[in-house]
Amino acid sequence: MSLIVQKFGGTSVKDISKIKRACLLISTEHKKGNQVVVIVSAMAGETTKLINLSKNFNYSKNLDEYDVIVSTGEQVSVGLVSMCLNGMGIKAQSLLGWQIPIICDDNHSKAKIIEINTNSILKILKNSAIPIIAGFQGISYTEKKIVTLGRGGSDTSAVAIAASMSADRCDIYTDVDGVYTSDPKIVPKAKKIDRISYEEMLEFASLGAKVLQTRSVEMAMRYNVEVQVLSSASGQPGTLVVKEEKDMEKALVSGITHSKEECNITLINLEDRPGIAAKIFTPLSDANINVDMIVQTGSESGNNINFTFTVSDSDLKLAVSLMNEHKNEIGFQRIITNDKLSKISIVGLGMRTHSGVAKKMFTTLASKNINIHVISTSEIKISVLINEEFTELAVKALHSVFELD
Ligand code: ADP
Ligand code: ASP
Ligand code: MG
Repeated sequence: MSLIVQKFGGTSVKDISKIKRACLLISTEHKKGNQVVVIVSAMAGETTKLINLSKNFNYSKNLDEYDVIVSTGEQVSVGLVSMCLNGMGIKAQSLLGWQIPIICDDNHSKAKIIEINTNSILKILKNSAIPIIAGFQGISYTEKKIVTLGRGGSDTSAVAIAASMSADRCDIYTDVDGVYTSDPKIVPKAKKIDRISYEEMLEFASLGAKVLQTRSVEMAMRYNVEVQVLSSASGQPGTLVVKEEKDMEKALVSGITHSKEECNITLINLEDRPGIAAKIFTPLSDANINVDMIVQTGSESGNNINFTFTVSDSDLKLAVSLMNEHKNEIGFQRIITNDKLSKISIVGLGMRTHSGVAKKMFTTLASKNINIHVISTSEIKISVLINEEFTELAVKALHSVFELD
């Protein structure tokens, strides 16, 4: 008997017919004699609707209440899935984050999981029932308040539960057949990847392939959880995310990702002195804002410099207000922001051993007349920041030039 964690994303519980379809997949796994633990997201569109409701007020100053609101989408869907299974004659019981409990830190709206007590889940399994767990939510360690794990956080809930229960597999059901060489909604010629390494998947996720939340991949890698991404519509085998294998390095570039959620902030005319970067990044880090690309350039006035860095769209407002709060200390003259940008990345294990990849990427973008604002690289990826309007053109051109079509 295996223990299988099945996670159904918003698109897989979007309406009643999709919920019935998900319950069929749960029942098939259950009838094989396996123990099944199910994690469910909010019905597609619900979380965004709830976020927009909270935006009628100053939600960034009330993030604890924001979490109370946005976590409710999952409460509805676990109840529906549970009712549907019970109606099919399969015993099921819903569990919310606080009931388990999934204990998290106090970082509202992007909390991290600290510990999961699996007793309540095991008790349901012992009764030959299926636990239906609300994804995306937990309870804070010190204040015992509801917290959420950031957009796409149900993936992390699923992998964390799979890790804490030493599950044999964690199946992530979604609206595509697996992980593709690029977002299939943008590049129709993208191909499904059968097996992808944790390292590559981590880059894919953090560079915009929202099919898995980045933190879920980090966790799968750390605890060696075998993750499968597959379609709830077809139920066919999907993509396995696994440890690096011998042949994987053969592919020079395994995928192209994009993220339109990039904004850059430029601080103009700062004094070029030691400690300036620390002064800029300390308040951002204290506010849990992730900074991605960073560039320092000389300015026309000689000794002074400009400092550009990127943050996600959702952090832009707070980052700008923090910079203005610390304006005198940092000592910049003015601040410029641009939120019409897109980050395009190429990812592949083969980049470790092959040269010329960057040249090919830049030449391809130049041939399409696409200007590059910022470049950043790591061992297995190259990212460029371009104007948002060129996203599709750039992704399709790179997908073709790196022979992924
Ligand atoms: P769910 O509701 O199941 O959580 P998401 O919308 O969060 O689904 O993630 C699935 C979507 O991720 C797909 O519909 C696809 O458009 C997008 N996506 C982006 N990049 C990729 C990729 N490289 N491979 C597969 N899907 C991708
Ligand atoms: N419902 C949450 C969201 O839309 C979590 C998830 O879907 O994984 O972000
Ligand atoms: Mg998702």
